[in-house]
Amino acid sequence: MADSAPTGPLARFPEEWESAAVRLGGRAFHGRQIFKWLLARGVTDPASMSDLPKGLREALASEGELLPVSAAEVRRSVDHTRKVLVRLGGGETVETVLIPGVTGRRRGDAAPDAELDADASAAPDDDEDEDLAAAPGKVEPVRVTQCISTQVGCAMGCVFCASGVAGLKRHMRPDEIVAQVILGRSLLDEDEQLRNVVVMGMGEPLHNYDATVRALRLLSHPDGVGLSSRRITVSTSGLVPEIARLGQDFGGQIGLAISLHAADDESRTRLMPINKKYPLPVLMQALRDYPLPKRRRITIEYTLVAGKNDDPAEAKKLAKLLRGLPVKVNLIPMNRIEASTLGPPEVPRVFEFQRVLLDAGYSCFVRKRRGDDVAAACGQLALLGHKPKVRVDRS
Ligand code: SAH
Ligand code: SF4
Repeated sequence: MADSAPTGPLARFPEEWESAAVRLGGRAFHGRQIFKWLLARGVTDPASMSDLPKGLREALASEGELLPVSAAEVRRSVDHTRKVLVRLGGGETVETVLIPGVTGRRRGDAAPDAELDADASAAPDDDEDEDLAAAPGKVEPVRVTQCISTQVGCAMGCVFCASGVAGLKRHMRPDEIVAQVILGRSLLDEDEQLRNVVVMGMGEPLHNYDATVRALRLLSHPDGVGLSSRRITVSTSGLVPEIARLGQDFGGQIGLAISLHAADDESRTRLMPINKKYPLPVLMQALRDYPLPKRRRITIEYTLVAGKNDDPAEAKKLAKLLRGLPVKVNLIPMNRIEASTLGPPEVPRVFEFQRVLLDAGYSCFVRKRRGDDVAAACGQLALLGHKPKVRVDRS
């Protein structure tokens, strides 16, 4: 898998592990076993890789830490959302969030608020999910969506976003991106199952294209975590050439979420400087060109910021702009951030905006604010700095 992204051992593909195993004194097939230990089972201590020869286990251990991240803090919300502050090797922190769905054993418990009903996770639609129906009498696992980061900070400078205000510190490596999932999976409850990954944490994934794509290929490898690419959604502020590349590289199988946040160039540029480079007509063409499989839709994310993009007239423009595209719209009332006085509109105004889109025939959800009590909005926990461990128990 040739690309230019620098990487650590956790980002090796099985064939790369084959040669690494030989270099470490083992046989090629041991390499495939190592890949499975790491990605399928999440075992990162070579001493526990019981089907490897002792010498190989020791040689592997002498290569250094296989998991390049650790959980600096885990905050659990009353709605079971878990926000994990992830420490990278250089001491920097990013975040990953585990968002349990409402299907499965806990149905009814922490149910979505009736009014702010929502697609909390921007995960693929359940109506697109042919294996959703459980066998009678069988207890379904709680399906968890994990949100992962791709950069420390972000260079895109969106004015409502904590990561954008902070600026880009560095790109994450593919092994660090993958490690968030290995770590996240180890923090799941017994009745939970990782179902979807959304690349919506810190950073602009398509600005760190090679590392992100390598990580997604590893996560969707059938011998590893085994997430099919259609259970992965990448969210972007609209990097047009990379949207086309992603479409080509995965044949349109990766879900696409577009952070639109405005329906005209003037207001979008004010909120998102990237719009100067790729204005709306160019971005909309990229969406029309994305090789989306039949029955799938592009998610349009629209963060509602009071006084900036929340006018019902803007909703009408949005309805016009999206005409003819297979989309669903997620409205996200802005989460306040420390660095800005901007904030969300009043609740009735949010519903007024939603009503315009519903009346125009769109699927339109107001994203329920999951994990509010643990600062689960983009970039917030990582930017709070190091705070003492807080755990909110389920009781
Ligand atoms: N960089 C990518 C992915 C990470 S941001 C992107 O922008 O799409 C994930 C989503 O959170 C984006 O839609 C982003 O606009 C939104 N977001 C960022 N800060 C927010 C805030 N303070 N309140 C609500 N949504 C926010
Ligand atoms: Fe970057 Fe996305 Fe935040 Fe914009 S919203 S600054 S692109 S992380």
